[in-house]
Amino acid sequence: MATKKKTTKKTKTTSEPMIVRSNSFGAGITYQLRMVRCGSAACKKGCAEGERPHGPYWYRVERDLTTGKTTVKYHGKNEPTLEEIARHMNERAS
Ligand SMILES: [Zn+2]
Repeated sequence: MATKKKTTKKTKTTSEPMIVRSNSFGAGITYQLRMVRCGSAACKKGCAEGERPHGPYWYRVERDLTTGKTTVKYHGKNEPTLEEIARHMNERAS
């Protein structure tokens, strides 16, 4: 199949993450396993078409309990270990 069928269905370019797993650890820390779209039209995986997103990758979502502001940090492909989680929580507590 060399021909690509054009669909009329439009996909939004806003990269809304697909959350596969979500682990909350209190203190505003959540680890999420996400499938992501890079948003590149030239993406070889064709993630913009919504067919093959990248990942899954782990992200650390931290919510500031006083301001309510959320920051998302890329963690990596591997699930965070308990040691890593404990370290991050200690960092926040200090
Ligand atoms: Zn992509």
